[in-house]
Amino acid sequence: MKTVRHEFVEYIPEELEKGVVYISVAYGIVAHSCCCGCGMEVSTPLSPTDWKLTYDGESISLYPSIGNWNFSCKSHYWITNNRIKWAGQWSATKIKEGQQQEKYEKAVYYEKKKAKASKGERELLEATKEESCTSANGIWVKMKKWFFNL
Ligand SMILES: [Zn+2]
Repeated sequence: MKTVRHEFVEYIPEELEKGVVYISVAYGIVAHSCCCGCGMEVSTPLSPTDWKLTYDGESISLYPSIGNWNFSCKSHYWITNNRIKWAGQWSATKIKEGQQQEKYEKAVYYEKKKAKASKGERELLEATKEESCTSANGIWVKMKKWFFNL
């Protein structure tokens, strides 16, 4: 298989036709049957930390590459302008490194997102913190009272 065709859908069909890349913009998901022909379903979610889809009006590209390390075929390829570019197989070490890098990038992304949380959200956080402080004080006062009543 050297090329694929893309199909914009609302829902990813249960049976994936080989050589078709199904794209659900509504659900931010892209799925296709493994390009090696093994028939395994490859699902590539679209998100800032997962895959990015480029559509130029005629063809699609997915970034980064698709590495099916969990399948027995362990195929690895790029989909660029509806063409499949086969990439080299990764060694176990490289796969592990890649997965760690991905984890790290996700962690950084979510930290940044948290830092950007709106002022309102932060105020809400502060308010909950204060509330828990006062309730802790409340318990302390009750305990003191109990102590002096002894
Ligand atoms: Zn495969």
